[in-house]
Amino acid sequence: MKRIVILRLGHRPVRDKRITTHVGLTARAFGAEGMLLASDDARLTENILDVAKRWGGDFYVRNNINWKSEIRKWKEDGGKVCHLSMYGVNLPDVVLDISECEDLMVVVGAEKVPFEIYELADWNVAVGNQPHSEVAAVAVTLDRIASTDPLKKEFCGGELSIVPMERGKRVIDNRH
Ligand code: SAM
Repeated sequence: MKRIVILRLGHRPVRDKRITTHVGLTARAFGAEGMLLASDDARLTENILDVAKRWGGDFYVRNNINWKSEIRKWKEDGGKVCHLSMYGVNLPDVVLDISECEDLMVVVGAEKVPFEIYELADWNVAVGNQPHSEVAAVAVTLDRIASTDPLKKEFCGGELSIVPMERGKRVIDNRH
């Protein structure tokens, strides 16, 4: 897998503020290069970018994109699309196929997803066929399709970094 991008659909600025922030931060932490937000929420975009700046790496968020044209462009450029839905085929049954693709767009919904997504996607994938959360679905998918352990990823250039320890908390401020 070379590139992973998350497409967040159906975000409602007040209701989904927290969960969409968590989708973005989880996608970043588990190795996605960026998130496309198919709603207009400049403030949420800034919040995620602020965290990304403080903690390092090159994660980006593009606000208010047109999901249809982004999916079309992605596919024209040879990328594949994996739509996460509890109605899809179960992840363990397609994980090898998905892992083989070079560029992957992972689509996650909030409210009801337009049916066209099911047709445009190369895979409609369930992270188990039970309802749960888009945050969990993103985390498990990115972990299962990864060729190297996403939890070992280094984030360079951040203002802050953590020194892991058995007890207590130690954060280094790299600006000093
Ligand atoms: N009621 C909505 C529908 O029927 O499309 C789904 C709401 S769910 C809280 C929001 C998103 O979480 C879904 O669009 C999907 O991307 C993701 N999701 C929830 N459970 C999932 C599962 N078991 N497998 C894959 N994705 C899941």
